[in-house]
Amino acid sequence: MLLLNPGPVSLSERVRRSLLQPDLCHREREFFDLQEEARARLLGTYRLDPAEWAAVLISASGTAAVESMVASLAPSAGRLLTLENGVYGERIAQICERYGIAHERVMGAWTRALDLEAVAARLDGAAPSARFTHVAVVHHETTTGRLNELQRLMELCGRRGVRLLVDGVSSFGAEAIDFADESLAAVAATANKCLHAVPGVSFVVARRSALRAAVSRAFYLDLGRLADLQDRRDTPFTPAVHAHYALVEALRELAEQGGQPARHRRYAALAEQVRAGLAALGIAAVVPPEQSSVVLRSYRLPAGLAYAALHDALKAEGFVIYAGQGELSRTLFRISTMGEVSSADIDRLLRCIAPVLR
Ligand SMILES: *Cc1c(COP(=O)(O)O)cnc(C)c1O
Repeated sequence: MLLLNPGPVSLSERVRRSLLQPDLCHREREFFDLQEEARARLLGTYRLDPAEWAAVLISASGTAAVESMVASLAPSAGRLLTLENGVYGERIAQICERYGIAHERVMGAWTRALDLEAVAARLDGAAPSARFTHVAVVHHETTTGRLNELQRLMELCGRRGVRLLVDGVSSFGAEAIDFADESLAAVAATANKCLHAVPGVSFVVARRSALRAAVSRAFYLDLGRLADLQDRRDTPFTPAVHAHYALVEALRELAEQGGQPARHRRYAALAEQVRAGLAALGIAAVVPPEQSSVVLRSYRLPAGLAYAALHDALKAEGFVIYAGQGELSRTLFRISTMGEVSSADIDRLLRCIAPVLR
């Protein structure tokens, strides 16, 4: 079965085989070697200086990394502005609510770009007693495949001394992220999307200065404590040992293939192949290509074709595609090109879609 859903992804044989390494006690030297290699390679993906940045590993899915980042890096007296144009932006606001973190929301239509003018107005319009310290945003909003304008948002925040917390769960490893920008405090992501490893490990890449100011709202997800112990070749709890094997192998593979820029090129070619092939079949993209990620795209369901019929016909041919979320489930479907997916796979996918449309 070829997975074209936004993670978990189809694994390379090399990463799959890496799961079958010796049993490890997580309190032995061998595990800490693995933990250190994973942390170093995560920083290496964007050539980050370990003196300035730390990759903090969390044994849980991507949402845990986002939760850990928000709960730990929003200061006690902080105030967050959450930007929403999809499920994952909304989720950040839900996390703030659960932890009682002071926040306000800028909500936009799920199929539209974020209104950065409105964001600037909200930041500038806050009363002195209610100034925003942080903006939280989803880089690639997987709900629609839209790549939010991180660079413009960084400039906007930088000018106002506001820090950015980024959900980069479905962009880290493939899309460019300007870590040099001073406004960027942290990016949360996971092993099983653009990095091509298995579910079970997620992580936050955070500025060490932000970690030093971290607060302990959460227990298991206390980012400052996790960073502290991992820096000392330690761990507070039992990590997903085998998922660490896979993450390290996937990061070695990524580096050998040319790193993030090469992965971006590979995804871009596949995404364009899907877009052009579907366009030839009369199926339109929901978000224009220049506003989309290279990771995943959403497409309009042709009139009269239910998602289930398309899904089931493709599954019978060995492909798993993905439905829209919420209201969008009746109008669109999504195709991700993360993981061990080739151009030949996409050719075959397109050949299998054609007869379903008739
Ligand atoms: C996948 C994803 C998440 C996290 O999902 P999990 O199911 O917890 O791994 C968070 N944000 C974005 C943008 C995602 O694509």
